[in-house]
Amino acid sequence: MANLLDRLPKVRGVYRENVELKNWFDVGGAAEVLFRPADLEDLQSFLKNCPKDVPLNVLGAASNVIIADEGVKGVVIRLGGEFAKISQEDNKIRAGAAALCGNVALTSKNAALSGLEFFTGIPGSIGGAIAMNAGCYGSDVSQILVSATAIDFEGNIIQLKNSDFAFYYRGNKIAKKFIFIEGLFIGKASSFDEVSKKIYELNQQREKAQPIRAKTGGSTFKNPEPQNPNAKKAWQLIDEAGLRGASEGDAQISEKHCNFMINRGNASANDLINLGNRVKKIVKERTNIDIEWEIKILKQ
Ligand SMILES: Cc1cc2nc3c(=O)[nH]c(=O)nc-3n(C[C@H](O)[C@H](O)[C@H](O)COP(=O)(O)OP(=O)(O)OC[C@H]3O[C@@H](n4cnc5c(N)ncnc54)[C@H](O)[C@@H]3O)c2cc1C
Repeated sequence: MANLLDRLPKVRGVYRENVELKNWFDVGGAAEVLFRPADLEDLQSFLKNCPKDVPLNVLGAASNVIIADEGVKGVVIRLGGEFAKISQEDNKIRAGAAALCGNVALTSKNAALSGLEFFTGIPGSIGGAIAMNAGCYGSDVSQILVSATAIDFEGNIIQLKNSDFAFYYRGNKIAKKFIFIEGLFIGKASSFDEVSKKIYELNQQREKAQPIRAKTGGSTFKNPEPQNPNAKKAWQLIDEAGLRGASEGDAQISEKHCNFMINRGNASANDLINLGNRVKKIVKERTNIDIEWEIKILKQ
């Protein structure tokens, strides 16, 4: 069997073989090949010419994924600096998929536009945020995304409007078909001070409740009934099952927030996955409620 690199099309960007893909938990296996396209044209040419049997995966800032210890076969595509531009257009912010959500929040502050403050504590990229319909404290991407540019896996560039996504809580119906390239987000005219204050308050609220300085992946499970204010949240179901602090190797359910797993030191991806699956099983046995992974597991 030919080496994978020998089968891939010529690109202007960079291919690297056997690259360790550490995530926010600081665990994870390697990508057989990691590809950083030079620009959109380069990505398009790669997608048009890549043999169809090569598995393709997209990674943003890896803040919501567990990459299997065994690694990922095929090519992992990661967008770099060329895709990280952020600009203001009247009451809108245009941001490339590789731009960090925190930088978009900062830009909205400088542009005195409210509505994008919630991006402040989300450690992912804009591409990941669109794919995940990321959000917190009552706001999410679906409420502010006007349109997006995407490319499909055949290399066709597509313009999408918000309604094309069929967004739902922490996801949308089309993410698997596309690589998101940029998003256009709408804000409301406000003042620098108001937006700064909101960002500060959100950061304080997060710092109090979440183990954000630990090696973590954010919320592990989706809340089972996000639209129902009376329904129990994932953290409550986990807490009531007596699983606060539960562990598997160095993977642990955070003592501070039961819907966060943390890596205490030397956890493996398998420790995290096994712990998450054990929590799911115990909650199901106790309550008959299926809590669904919010974290994506990337494996071969
Ligand atoms: C401390 C901490 C706090 C967090 N708090 C929150 C929170 O409050 N709210 C929240 O919603 N999330 C939160 N998260 C989770 C995470 O930051 C978000 O889901 C974020 O949007 C993921 O972005 P990413 O770039 O890291 O995506 P990744 O983790 O790299 O990928 C996540 C998914 O998105 C896909 N993806 C990534 N980029 C693209 C692209 N360009 N095109 C198509 N698909 C793509 C990947 O294939 C994968 O399926 C938190 C995580 C941590 C570690």
